Amino acid sequence: MRLSRYFMPILKEPPREAEIVSHRLMLRAGMMRQEAAGIYAFLPLGLRVLNKICAIVREEQNRSGAIELLMPTMQPADLWRESGRYDAYGKEMLRIKDRHERDMLFGPTNEEMITEIFRAYVRSYKDLPLNLYHIQWKFRDEVRPRFGLMRGREFLMKDAYSFDVDQAGAEHSYNKMFVAYLRTFARLGLKSIPMRADTGPIGGNLSHEFIILADTGESEVFCHKDFLDRATPPEDVDFDDRAALKTIFDTWTSQYAATSDMHDAAAFAAVPADKQVSARGIEVGHIFYFGTKYSEPMKAIVATGQGGDVPVHMGSYGIGPSRLVAAIIEASHDDAGIIWPEAVAPFQVAVLNLKQGDAATGAACEELYRGLGAKGIDVLYDDTDKGAGAKFATADLIGIPYQVMVGPRGLAEGKVEVKNRKTGSKELMSPAAALDLLTR
Ligand code: ATP
Ligand code: MG
Repeated sequence: MRLSRYFMPILKEPPREAEIVSHRLMLRAGMMRQEAAGIYAFLPLGLRVLNKICAIVREEQNRSGAIELLMPTMQPADLWRESGRYDAYGKEMLRIKDRHERDMLFGPTNEEMITEIFRAYVRSYKDLPLNLYHIQWKFRDEVRPRFGLMRGREFLMKDAYSFDVDQAGAEHSYNKMFVAYLRTFARLGLKSIPMRADTGPIGGNLSHEFIILADTGESEVFCHKDFLDRATPPEDVDFDDRAALKTIFDTWTSQYAATSDMHDAAAFAAVPADKQVSARGIEVGHIFYFGTKYSEPMKAIVATGQGGDVPVHMGSYGIGPSRLVAAIIEASHDDAGIIWPEAVAPFQVAVLNLKQGDAATGAACEELYRGLGAKGIDVLYDDTDKGAGAKFATADLIGIPYQVMVGPRGLAEGKVEVKNRKTGSKELMSPAAALDLLTR
């Protein structure tokens, strides 16, 4: 992408309305724009990051055996009357009437709708286990939308729903998502900690929130320090191996970790003092096993194969990709701006032309830009007529992992400079060596 032809409205002044660093940096970097309280437009740079996050979420959901579909944002109220949640959900639900005066709502979550889909087609244990997910916009009329994408009213959610014939099966499905979540957050460059959680309005008996530590987090959390250096389950983990997944689950839940809702001060006091972490955290994912809470009232019934019919056992599993854009920034930034982990960076490399208009510099930039692009690297080529200082500042602000600085002085010696945004290290090398390094 040539910056001169891109749409990336950088703000010079730090926006006043933003209270936390991720919100401030996203506005300054031209990643998103508020259209109403808690409702945002994703601008091109922000959308690139969101899409990269969704791609990783998808890969890990698919790897675990979950299957993608897409449910609508608008839902009929009648479905929610069946589960009893239409009245229970309260003011967070945006209720709408269509032109025929039918009660509709903008989905805050999809348990009812997925149960309706399931019961329409599935009758037998032979079709189980099944896990269906989608990535779709949700609306919750939060009392206090704030912190930008962190607590929006309209936000993106990946929500998966598992179906099993019995509790043992459902626990295995839960463990699959548990492991998939650990892998997902690690790939996003985050250290997530699963914490025992309250089940809230979703209901049920088993639940974990995946929390990342950050000073600006809305949750107060307590955990054992060892969580911060645990190894992520490997890519080739066998999701059909019940025992293996149970072992991972047990290891990751054997030490103390709880949000303030579930905090047990006595149990926490038993953690060695030098291992006690008491901090703030951001909830990036939340998983629930709730048994037959929806399948019973909504009559999602399956044959067990042993001469009986039972309501299907369900779980639901949420991740907030739009909140993650902000959460990743909270976890990874410095005074100069965002430091994107490579996996979600909007562009992997920025090529900075330090002397726009100089023929040799332009030619060297073009060659790098084309060469990197040909190897499938996402490159942002700063070919604007701004000065070198402004270009450095922009590249740092938007957090591109590698910057290649190309100017007449270096080129006279056959060199360009490659900067690593995270470490700040800079190295002079030939353009060919830079191409080689960045496409490795
Ligand atoms: P919270 O406790 O933060 O209000 P929740 O428990 O209501 O969240 P879930 O229903 O578990 O949220 O939703 C699953 C995921 O969706 C959350 O883990 C979070 O990543 C994301 N999410 C929930 N509410 C919001 C919101 N208002 N803005 C952005 N993301 C959200
Ligand atoms: Mg939650």
